[in-house]
Amino acid sequence: MLPTEKIQNLAFVNGDLSGFINHLEETFINRSTGAYIATVNPEIGYAAAKDKDYFQTVSSADFILPDGIGIVLTSRLTHHRLKARIAGYDVFINLLGIANQKKKKVFLYGAKPGVIQAAAERISNEYPDIELVGYSDGYVKDRESVALQIAQTNPDMVFVALGCPHQENFIYEHKHLFPQAIAIGVGGSFDVFSGTVKRAPKILIKLNLEWMYRLLTNPSRWRRMLNIPKYVFSVLKEEKFQKQHLLSEPIKEQSKIDA
Ligand code: UDP
Repeated sequence: MLPTEKIQNLAFVNGDLSGFINHLEETFINRSTGAYIATVNPEIGYAAAKDKDYFQTVSSADFILPDGIGIVLTSRLTHHRLKARIAGYDVFINLLGIANQKKKKVFLYGAKPGVIQAAAERISNEYPDIELVGYSDGYVKDRESVALQIAQTNPDMVFVALGCPHQENFIYEHKHLFPQAIAIGVGGSFDVFSGTVKRAPKILIKLNLEWMYRLLTNPSRWRRMLNIPKYVFSVLKEEKFQKQHLLSEPIKEQSKIDA
């Protein structure tokens, strides 16, 4: 069992990227045991706090990862103490590395047709031992048919990049069709992986300012960014603010892997 810290009844993994990946590899991947991983940023956290069904969807994940500095800082404003963020993109890259090493079957679902095509090509070129059993863009109307397609390919890993709340809903509703797979929602990861969108420069990632880079390079995100303060206030409303915890320990940077 990995240590967790609860925020608004969501039990976040309280560790670091390599500890999480090692645990997943030893306890799940090596035993062909499936797991549902939710990568929760403040937008998802806020949506879960507002909507009981979505809360159920997210909280039923085997692992809830603090995907964003907003979650870690919010945890420090209250009595919860998350050590580090564990970014979905980094988990995605690490899992591709394991899949390549162990010749695992991978399915990619999500993003625009050109993006998913480019992501699939990059996998074929850079991870030659991955068995890419299928992929689908995220704008296919009939999601049920994609779920059945995934089930038929019997994958070891399913990466779902449909954004919030679709990716968590999709995994939650269909994971019984691919119970042996690691299924994870990875947000905009295919956009970055395919080279369509650039990830923030490493220095900004280190300074925990990736969110600012995303806002400046894509100003139309500002409305979504309002979810960050909304999330912070909704947590503070429920839980006691504890000033002494905010910066008493440096926040570990987990982004060790290059795109
Ligand atoms: N997306 C999709 N189908 C949809 C809506 C979104 O495949 O119906 C994709 C979108 O193209 C993008 C990803 O979902 O690749 C989510 O991106 P976003 O920037 O919202 O992710 P996040 O901010 O969570 O990383």
